[in-house]
Amino acid sequence: MKVLVTGGLGYIGSHTVTTLIENGYEVVIVDNLSNSKIEVLDSIYAITGVRPAFYQFDVRDEQKLDELFEKETPEAIIHFAGFKAVGESCQEPLMYYENNLGSTFSILKMMKKYKVCNKIVFSSSATVYGVPDSVPLTESSPIKEATNPYGQTKIMIEKILTDFAKVEGTNVALLRYFNPIGAHTTGLLGEDPNGLPNNIFPYLNKVAVGALPILNVFGDDYETVDGTGVRDYIHVMDLAEGHVLALKKLEQDCGVFVCNLGTGKGTSVLELVAAYEQANDIKINYQIAPRRAGDIAENYAGTEKAKNELGFECKYSIKDACGDGYRFQIYSLFVQRIKSKNREKEVVQE
Ligand code: NAD
Ligand code: UDP
Repeated sequence: MKVLVTGGLGYIGSHTVTTLIENGYEVVIVDNLSNSKIEVLDSIYAITGVRPAFYQFDVRDEQKLDELFEKETPEAIIHFAGFKAVGESCQEPLMYYENNLGSTFSILKMMKKYKVCNKIVFSSSATVYGVPDSVPLTESSPIKEATNPYGQTKIMIEKILTDFAKVEGTNVALLRYFNPIGAHTTGLLGEDPNGLPNNIFPYLNKVAVGALPILNVFGDDYETVDGTGVRDYIHVMDLAEGHVLALKKLEQDCGVFVCNLGTGKGTSVLELVAAYEQANDIKINYQIAPRRAGDIAENYAGTEKAKNELGFECKYSIKDACGDGYRFQIYSLFVQRIKSKNREKEVVQE
């Protein structure tokens, strides 16, 4: 089956692409590189031996998207493309609504036009549950008022896709991710954001290699196992596998399928730091800092539905994720150094 992956060079998209290829899917990627690098395509090739068809444009460009559909005729879409930084979404709400909703509208218009494409997997988030009344969060936990525009786009898109599916008979998987961490087991793919990372894992990676001096642990006075925030960290390769299983589910004409993707286990910030230290035999420099505005104490996923209806089970541990993440960070540092050495040579030759 041919699958169009929007945002396929991004963090979760690129890992999912390798898993799709390994499961025999033909992959077409569209990405405008607003938050990714073209080199990711080389890593996908190095890992899988396949270089997927790649289109560089903004998914909101309906003319280009129409041409792509005409040429490639994908039968399914995995829609990752969108902006994802909570803090930035509070500063630039319009940018978030425009990109996240706009990209979804373009895709749905094409699905309406090219009827052969009747399956879509959407990257939703545990953020739709807001401040939980209780944990674990199951798919029937209430959807709460979003505390930021990013979360609001996820709630809105879930609703839009549901309404669309009712009329068009589309099969939709709304996958609510918990906290993806880690990297490809080869260390060739991972998450390396430009500037200061917002999320804990890329921040940890940078502290580990000395690119950042110290990790701030946001609050140690929550009502949790050790006072620090608890989250459900899922290895990105397990998450990738979840997408393949979701596609299979959609092939059964299941209509709208809502599903959490998490491990079902909560891990505190200090437990994550300890796992990282153990996995890599290093010390992480950290300090306790004030709570971060808008953070909740604890969340983790109810995993029964994913297990029963997708056959989804996590293969990797937190420690695996920490080892893979560190390996990728070292590789990434190495690539950067080579690039800057090459640039130095170019300057000297000029
Ligand atoms: P990412 O930023 O690494 O990947 C998104 C990709 O989409 C990037 O490569 C970017 O260049 C591309 N993109 C953005 N807007 C585009 C547009 N209009 N047209 C074409 N390409 C565009 O993010 P990620 O972490 O891989 O997340 C993927 C999806 O999963 C996002 O929708 C995100 O909201 C969702 N999600 C992520 C997390 C997480 O913690 N990473 C958690 C829950 C949900
Ligand atoms: N966190 C932290 N230091 C950081 C970034 C995050 O202590 O530099 C904590 C944060 O308070 C939360 C957990 O790590 O308890 C996960 O935060 P992240 O931003 O990665 O994901 P979120 O669950 O907020 O989407």
